[in-house]
Amino acid sequence: MKERHQALVAEGNDWQLRSLESASMPHSVVDGQKVIMLCSNNYLDLARHPAIVEAMATTTRELGAGSGSVRAIAGNMTIHEEVERAVAQFKGVEASLVFQTGFSVGSGFIPTLVGKEDAVISDALNHGCMIDGIRLTKADRRVYAHNDIHELEAHLRDTKQARRRLVLTDGVFSMDGDIAPLDAICELCEQFDAMLYVDDAHGEGVMGKGGRGIVDHFGLQGRVDFEAGTFSKAFGVVGGLVAGAEEVRLHALNNSRTWLLSASHPPGVAAAQKAAIDVLENEPEHHARLWSVTDRIRNALQNLGFDTGDSVTPIIPIMCGESDRAKAFSEGLYKRGVLALPIVFPMVPREKARVRCMMNAGLSDDDVDEVIRIMEETGRDVGLI
Ligand SMILES: *Cc1c(COP(=O)(O)O)cnc(C)c1O
Repeated sequence: MKERHQALVAEGNDWQLRSLESASMPHSVVDGQKVIMLCSNNYLDLARHPAIVEAMATTTRELGAGSGSVRAIAGNMTIHEEVERAVAQFKGVEASLVFQTGFSVGSGFIPTLVGKEDAVISDALNHGCMIDGIRLTKADRRVYAHNDIHELEAHLRDTKQARRRLVLTDGVFSMDGDIAPLDAICELCEQFDAMLYVDDAHGEGVMGKGGRGIVDHFGLQGRVDFEAGTFSKAFGVVGGLVAGAEEVRLHALNNSRTWLLSASHPPGVAAAQKAAIDVLENEPEHHARLWSVTDRIRNALQNLGFDTGDSVTPIIPIMCGESDRAKAFSEGLYKRGVLALPIVFPMVPREKARVRCMMNAGLSDDDVDEVIRIMEETGRDVGLI
């Protein structure tokens, strides 16, 4: 372990954990330095929304800190089922099932969908939880180049002998902030009679009407078999979910080992999840604010001459070329009071190092001005603009 760790350190690829006084707010204190936070997934600033915090606190006081069991035995409380009905209603589908995390949906539910006689076809940039889920299947595994629907089609033509085909994609891709061409993917799946699975962890609460997600964004309601997601990003809490037909819920709960063999959420967590959906349904201003902040900052960065890549979402990468420049840019931002982290090889190709900025509805107009000023100053300092 020591040798391997030293090798990582030598490559500059080891993680050094930062200590935060508050993790998810637009203002935080990180290793003693006050910063505007641009690397939280808490897009809508719901993690500190009073009604959600209150729901968590009140329910915890009433019902206790833990559920004491897996859902299938004695850990299925009324509040868990209320959340699932609320998710289904929010997404306009029949049913949903809440998992412990978004990761455990990918790693636990995907292996229930296909077997030896089947084929799985996956985007090259899909999230690691889908990759792990695929590895747990015995299906024929295919990978298509990122968002390349011609290559996807070639794999679909090439796997006609399979009993079932399953196509997997992220809705929003977290490294570039680009989106899957889900309308075209959906048409191909229908044409070739393949199942379609979308992991919309970064799209929920962000894309579509009022944050209903990537399926809503493309108007594909009822045509995507499995919508996976998370409560840990825009919803500001924690927990995973899969939404779809009633049979999807029944199949998922009877077969997913990560669900069956792991305890249910504390009731306070479930109450906060439910409260977060209520906020999304009733307070459209958070979603609107996220997009106005995003548009202002992206336009300003582009006008200053920064390269923001293919981003069309509140994930805005600032392309820096090689790793050292991305690291220098990020360090300069931190010193001036903005936290945005460098994403470098091996997470992205060597020459595509970037600093990734995540927008947040909680940023004030003054914060936005400050972010733009600091970006400009630091960008000039390290020769990016
Ligand atoms: C973040 C993310 C997950 C993991 O979600 P958690 O609820 O934090 O476990 C899964 N899939 C995708 C695409 C993600 O971006």
